[in-house]
Amino acid sequence: MPPPFHGDHGDRHLHRGRIDPVQVDGLGQAQEGGDRGTRHVLRAGGIEVVLGGAAHAAVDDFRRTVEALAELLRRAVAEHGELPRQGQAFDANIPLDERVERVAAWVATPQGPRPGLVAMYFEMVDGAGHDHGPGSEQARAAIRTVDAAIGQLLARLEAAGVVPNVVVVSDHGMADARNFLAVEDIAAMEEAEVVSIGQVIGLVPRAGYGDVLRARLPGRHAQYQCWEKERIPARLHYGSHPRIPPIVCQMDEGWNALPRAMIERRNAEGRRDAGAHGYDPDLPSMRAVFLAHGPAFRRGLRLPVFDNVDVYPLLARLVGVQPQPGDGNPQTLLPALQAP
Ligand SMILES: [Zn+2]
Repeated sequence: MPPPFHGDHGDRHLHRGRIDPVQVDGLGQAQEGGDRGTRHVLRAGGIEVVLGGAAHAAVDDFRRTVEALAELLRRAVAEHGELPRQGQAFDANIPLDERVERVAAWVATPQGPRPGLVAMYFEMVDGAGHDHGPGSEQARAAIRTVDAAIGQLLARLEAAGVVPNVVVVSDHGMADARNFLAVEDIAAMEEAEVVSIGQVIGLVPRAGYGDVLRARLPGRHAQYQCWEKERIPARLHYGSHPRIPPIVCQMDEGWNALPRAMIERRNAEGRRDAGAHGYDPDLPSMRAVFLAHGPAFRRGLRLPVFDNVDVYPLLARLVGVQPQPGDGNPQTLLPALQAP
């Protein structure tokens, strides 16, 4: 097997060290369908990062994130001498069959080294789950669409004589979430800066309000639970990073906490999201799919529930690279392998 990401011209060092500084002029915003559509696009070298989300999100913070990403890439290039050579920045406007054809062309290329690892993303199951709910006919139709695209890819590879290991994952589950609470009812705007909204509410107390909020918020409330950062349960693996705010609240399943003005605007537009993720990861609704098929895997096996961070050491093993340290347990997925 060729090393992963090996380019197809044999000139392995063509791109060594060549990563341009972050393109801040690449910063832009586009509205596409309401507040979830605020998108910040930043470019660093050949990499494009699209960040979306809360209206409160700070652009400077985004820029620091991309700069950190670019630095990681510079170090990776310095250490390993190459970057992925074949790629396509995510673009929801590219039809699924075209995405499949591109990947098939990379993998099924008859001459030269083939890529050792290819990642594809299909966004429509998430979108339909948010807009209509995880059990909706629209969500089921989206699953059928993605299933057909994966089938098309496998058929193309089979026709080219390629027998891949294929791992299908989702990065999160989806719960019915039709109840809305104004985030101002958790903390008033003069009391705290709200740095995240939705299912996990991050609060930075404003000057003079720290003691008030630390006395009032930690503990159980009707539709949510709050912790001081230092007391977030260890099983959530959250709270140690400097960017996590001093107070964090987890909404109960089915609840969304948004700024009151945003709830009112959505109501006026007749728009009510029906599904959400970001709830307690122990909830069955937050479970994600994992399907693995190919020569490396045993057939017909059903695994007990595991953490999706365990997928990374499995993929590293399959492509023959040493995984970096992380929370993932390399043991849990070994029973799925033909040769553990
Ligand atoms: Zn989503």
